[in-house]
Amino acid sequence: MASRNEWKLYRRTCDKTKKEIISAYPPESPFTVYRNDIWWGDSWDALTYGRAFDFVKPFFVQYEELQKVVPREGTSVFRSENCDYNSHIRDSKNCYMNSLIATSEDTHFSYWIENGKDVIDCMLTNASTLSYECVDCDKCYDVTSLEESRNCNDCHFCFQLTGCDHCLLSSNLANRSYYLRNAPCTKEEFAAAKTALLCGSYAKWKDARAEYLRMREASVHRALHNLNCENVIGDHMYNAKNCLRCFDGHDAEDCTQSISMADTKDIISCYSAGWPRCEQIYFSAVSRGSIDLAFCRYTFFGNNLRYCDSCISCKHCFGCIGLRHKEYCILNTQYTKEEYEKLVPQIIDHMGKTGEWGEFFPPHTMPFSYNESAAQDYLPLSENEARKMGFTWRDTPEEIPVAKRVITAASLPDNIDDMSDDLLQSAIQCEKSGKPFKIVKQELDFYRRMRLPLPRLHPTERHRSRMARRNPYQLWIRKCTKCGQDTWTTYAPERPEMVACEECYLKEIY
Ligand SMILES: [Zn+2]
Repeated sequence: MASRNEWKLYRRTCDKTKKEIISAYPPESPFTVYRNDIWWGDSWDALTYGRAFDFVKPFFVQYEELQKVVPREGTSVFRSENCDYNSHIRDSKNCYMNSLIATSEDTHFSYWIENGKDVIDCMLTNASTLSYECVDCDKCYDVTSLEESRNCNDCHFCFQLTGCDHCLLSSNLANRSYYLRNAPCTKEEFAAAKTALLCGSYAKWKDARAEYLRMREASVHRALHNLNCENVIGDHMYNAKNCLRCFDGHDAEDCTQSISMADTKDIISCYSAGWPRCEQIYFSAVSRGSIDLAFCRYTFFGNNLRYCDSCISCKHCFGCIGLRHKEYCILNTQYTKEEYEKLVPQIIDHMGKTGEWGEFFPPHTMPFSYNESAAQDYLPLSENEARKMGFTWRDTPEEIPVAKRVITAASLPDNIDDMSDDLLQSAIQCEKSGKPFKIVKQELDFYRRMRLPLPRLHPTERHRSRMARRNPYQLWIRKCTKCGQDTWTTYAPERPEMVACEECYLKEIY
């Protein structure tokens, strides 16, 4: 996770075109950084940076020297239209300020969204439309503040619902319609209550949100949120078999100790593998359509690679960076099959002696500082802790953008109905971080349509608070609140929530 910057974007210059780009790499980054289309184009050749392996020096020193000169991909927008201001986005349209987005439209300020349409301020939703402030939802429509739910329609401020519609401030329901505060209600009662909560007023929104969080805390929590799994210990796993300590994955088999996977088999200690299918991946970050990788990062369609970074459609390579359609290369140098097969065992033997073989790239060679990487989002460290572990830390003061017209969050009118389009010409000053942020036209239209107030916090603060509400990628055994049996869960034993094993949870909702 430390090898990937998912959320932070910087303005910098593309080192090839000298034009300004929006990049995951800050301007002071020691690397050569190219705009996405240039990096993927034919104007440069990574083999020109090749060098012979030096059996006097440790491998990682030589890898680091190579890393300093080979151009890196500065942006990560693929096959997308009107999506420049995003990180890691593909096949999408009209999206602004998101990260990890696939096949989505009109999605803003969100993280890890697949097949979204009109999605704002959400995290980990799939195939959902008209969603606001939702986390871990699948196939939902017209929903706000909904968490751990699927197949829902017109549900707001609700927790752990399945197949429900027209529910407000309710939790742990399956296949119910018209529920208010966990009790059945009439259509008229539902409409009146919804209008009272969602009327465009910030004060009303805040009250509803506070009531939701209290209700959520008092509800029985599912120990693990897995679905259609067999012999799986992990959380948020769907259609999986024989997986141990895995999180946020689907269609996975025989996977261990991994986070974020889709269509994977035999993977161990990986972050983000799949999209499309990956097999036999060990200790690697961001693997796509690959087989037989170990100690790699950013591999697209690779086969039999070791210690490679940002290599595309390569096979049988060792210690290479930024190669495309190559085979039998070591440190970006081309060898014959025979030379390669002779040299690699010698290098592995050398790395065995230096204590490097079997270790992932050392922390100081991560292309990003710890505090701008995904690791800081999931496993936050202090500057001291991170530096002690060998990671770099970005201490450049954050540049506060200069806005001509700034309105403080406190001086905004309470109701969205009292905001004119004029507001789009100003920046709002975040009430927590003081940073100015912009409201975009599509966003304002969305709030008006959904009867939501304007946010008072900067998008990064909103993202952080959603992150903070999600359980960690860690498992404990604790007693089920209902039956007292030991159960695996991502709720630490000292946490106050009532946590039910799957059997008791299902009794609770059906
Ligand atoms: Zn139980």
